[in-house]
Amino acid sequence: MRYVIIGTSAAGLTAAETVRQFDRQGELILISDEALRPYSRPMLTYLLGREAGLENIWLRPPSHFHKLNFKAMLGEPVAQVDPQAREVYLSGGRVVKYDRLLIASGAQPRMLGIPGETLAGVFTLRRLADWQKLEADLPAGATMAIVGAGPIGLKAAEALRRRGHRVILVEAEPRPLPRLLDDTAAKLLQEHLHGLGAELIVKARPAAISGHQGRVRSLALADGRELEVEGVLLAVGVRPRLEFLHGTPLAGNAPLTVNSFLQTQYPDIFAAGDCAEAPDLFSGKPVSYQIWPAAVAQGQVAGANMTGASRRYSGLLAQNSISLHGFKIVSGGILEPGPNLTEVWCRFDERQGVYRRLVFQEGCLVGVTLAGEVTDAGLYFQIMTQKLPVKDLPVDPRSPDFHPGKVWG
Ligand SMILES: Cc1cc2nc3c(=O)[nH]c(=O)nc-3n(C[C@H](O)[C@H](O)[C@H](O)COP(=O)(O)OP(=O)(O)OC[C@H]3O[C@@H](n4cnc5c(N)ncnc54)[C@H](O)[C@@H]3O)c2cc1C
Repeated sequence: MRYVIIGTSAAGLTAAETVRQFDRQGELILISDEALRPYSRPMLTYLLGREAGLENIWLRPPSHFHKLNFKAMLGEPVAQVDPQAREVYLSGGRVVKYDRLLIASGAQPRMLGIPGETLAGVFTLRRLADWQKLEADLPAGATMAIVGAGPIGLKAAEALRRRGHRVILVEAEPRPLPRLLDDTAAKLLQEHLHGLGAELIVKARPAAISGHQGRVRSLALADGRELEVEGVLLAVGVRPRLEFLHGTPLAGNAPLTVNSFLQTQYPDIFAAGDCAEAPDLFSGKPVSYQIWPAAVAQGQVAGANMTGASRRYSGLLAQNSISLHGFKIVSGGILEPGPNLTEVWCRFDERQGVYRRLVFQEGCLVGVTLAGEVTDAGLYFQIMTQKLPVKDLPVDPRSPDFHPGKVWG
């Protein structure tokens, strides 16, 4: 059996290791356009803030691939996949045949499509090479605009403040982390952003980046304001990397929709991680969370199923945890009230700066936001994942008495 995996990050690496648990003999080929052994993308903002060094980012020791008998084709972009011929074409001209293929090609930063995005001083942060570019091109003390106050924009803001940059966050929505927080939690976060010394402009859309002698000089907003900046970091989300499916029946389906065995419409082609859309824990509908734990969980299931096991992916809770300048936020599950939601419960302790927001649906806890105090987050997530009815819990999650000892004895 020949297994081929495109991508050597969270999903691809986990899948390869899982294949080896089931099949010690099969040929296992890992392909990546990055000429690097697997590393942690979440560590990139810590590298940027100089809180971590390169030695902290590697996921496995250099001997790992050899030890598990993986054949690695690193620094080799995939140009095309042919599902009929069961072949992968590399842009260098080589052809790799497969019996089972996993597409774990992740995602790349979304661009805004505004003038000036190719100027020197415009950055994204997804790959180690992006961090290297920032290190090489970022003038010391430069004023930076960060477009997007999502998790990566905020962590990058913290990192750049640590390096002494003036930082202006530009967010299109009325609050930071707009998809994760309501107004109360966002207000708390804004106070901490202020403490960090980062400026935040909300309800603002970039219109153009202007330059002088090829370098960024300002960022113009759609409302006419012009921010004088020397660098722009775009952190406006990602889009799946599936360009090599061009011309196949899988093209145009981005992210790639998979069934609960993580198979695409071709039973011998699997997909996992940021490039895939797998059934949600609650709704069963295809969703793409684009978070590390989801990529790992899907890599485990896909890897097992590639060898012929019959593992069902049960879905994952959407979850995010962010620590910004010592202020912690955890949110997950269903956050937006829908038609079947029976209750959204909130408690705000203004003096302590602690906020809890719980969403209940049909007698079960389905969503949680914790800000300022997150120690019991794991407990809420267990209750949600196991879909435990609130009436069967020894303590109601709304009670001030709610803590692990009371719930699990
Ligand atoms: C700065 C940053 C911070 C983050 N912080 C967090 C966090 O705190 N918590 C969290 O849960 N998630 C975080 N994430 C998101 C997390 O990193 C991703 O969800 C995760 O990396 C997805 O893993 P993946 O294996 O699906 O894809 P990726 O990590 O994107 O890897 C895809 C792989 O495919 C390869 N590839 C793609 N196209 C081709 C091609 N054509 N040919 C050959 N190879 C190809 C790539 O080189 C790469 O090896 C962060 C991401 C970033 C960028």
